[in-house]
Amino acid sequence: MSKKIAVYAGSFDPFTLGHLDIAVRGSRLVDNLVIAIGNNPAKKYMLSFQQRVELIEDACRAIPNIEIKQFHGLLVTFCQKIEANIILRGLRSEKDLSFETPIALANRKMAPMVETVFLLADPSLQFVSSSLAKEVAFYDGDTSHFLTPLAEKYIGDVDY
Ligand code: ADP
Repeated sequence: MSKKIAVYAGSFDPFTLGHLDIAVRGSRLVDNLVIAIGNNPAKKYMLSFQQRVELIEDACRAIPNIEIKQFHGLLVTFCQKIEANIILRGLRSEKDLSFETPIALANRKMAPMVETVFLLADPSLQFVSSSLAKEVAFYDGDTSHFLTPLAEKYIGDVDY
């Protein structure tokens, strides 16, 4: 049996408590979980790549089978390159499902050996998204419902 290697990809700008929940639960299902941070030069991020790496390292410190990598381009190409056989995604709502379904089907056409696995969001974290966390931070709201303490600090330090 080959090793189960899953990829959990996103911009993670910033990594949220919702992302952490999926990473923790996903890591229990596989041998290795690669958190793949999207770093597309054409895209504007609030946090630098290095800061995004640090937030994930800090949050996932206690989980030995998590590894962090940078990726750009097609996710299936990245999966094939690192010999991953699972794409891990989180589902918060029907909106996530409608967004994710064609992507998962297209990925399956392109790479039939890579299986997309969805985990339902924890109900207490269903409202959590990076964009909402940034909006709350912009208006000086309490971001502790969304973010780890270090992520709160990095987002709080951003100059608008
Ligand atoms: P990006 O960082 O590229 O914007 P997202 O943050 O939207 O990507 O999502 C990356 C993955 O994490 C997706 O599968 C998404 O559904 C999942 N996700 C995001 N927030 C949560 C949450 N609160 N609970 C569960 N899954 C989540």
